[in-house]
Amino acid sequence: MIVKKSPAEIEKMAAAGAIHARTMKLVAGKIREGVTTADLDQAVEKYIRSQGAVPSFKGYRGFTGSICASPNAMVVHGIPGPYRLGRGDIISIDIGVTYDGWVADGAVTFPVGPVTPVAEKLLEVTRRSLFDAVEQCRPGNRLGDVSHAVQATVEGEGLSVVRSLVGHGIGRDMHEEPQIPNYGDAGKGPLLEPGMVLAVEPMTTAGRHMVRMGDDGWSIYAQDGSLAAHFEFTIAVTADGPRILTPWHEGEGAL
Ligand code: MG
Repeated sequence: MIVKKSPAEIEKMAAAGAIHARTMKLVAGKIREGVTTADLDQAVEKYIRSQGAVPSFKGYRGFTGSICASPNAMVVHGIPGPYRLGRGDIISIDIGVTYDGWVADGAVTFPVGPVTPVAEKLLEVTRRSLFDAVEQCRPGNRLGDVSHAVQATVEGEGLSVVRSLVGHGIGRDMHEEPQIPNYGDAGKGPLLEPGMVLAVEPMTTAGRHMVRMGDDGWSIYAQDGSLAAHFEFTIAVTADGPRILTPWHEGEGAL
């Protein structure tokens, strides 16, 4: 079942989400050639803890990082480590913040300096598909409207949505029902109601949609080696419409 949150609970999630957004902006300021993903991880953990919050990913099923850092053909779940960002890379950063028992989840794919036209398009389209999905997170719509919005935008530009990885409901737990595929039929699936909170996360590639797991048992790559991108918001469905709880796109330092 889909756990609905009260307005007061959504405010608590928004407090976690505000820390999340500030953390993502901090990361944005550190993305440059030569920085390692371990450097980014350390900065994120330090900042989240300084806010009285906890990095949700750390220790999750044994994951060692506070962020997932996934360069180039890696789609998601990269373990932070010695990898040094190179000029022309793209790097997906996924962050979870737990504050006062509530979780906020979100991701951005960053360019490292100037990137190829293919990479630029992948980032622009994937980001746009997320905003298109946000628009569908309204009472009276169905979950399939959200999934379909991502798919229509991404495939409409000749790119692929990863089929085997999904978004999710979120609240006291990072992963709650429902699963949210990035493809599907408009008008199908559960009815969206005020109080539902969704982590919508388009994961895309510039090639085909199939993925493979890396040797570390965590990292997921585009099977054909093509570039991959990942953008994510935690979004509350409210009577007034969608409310982005992890607004890294707003305010000072907006991404
Ligand atoms: Mg997520």
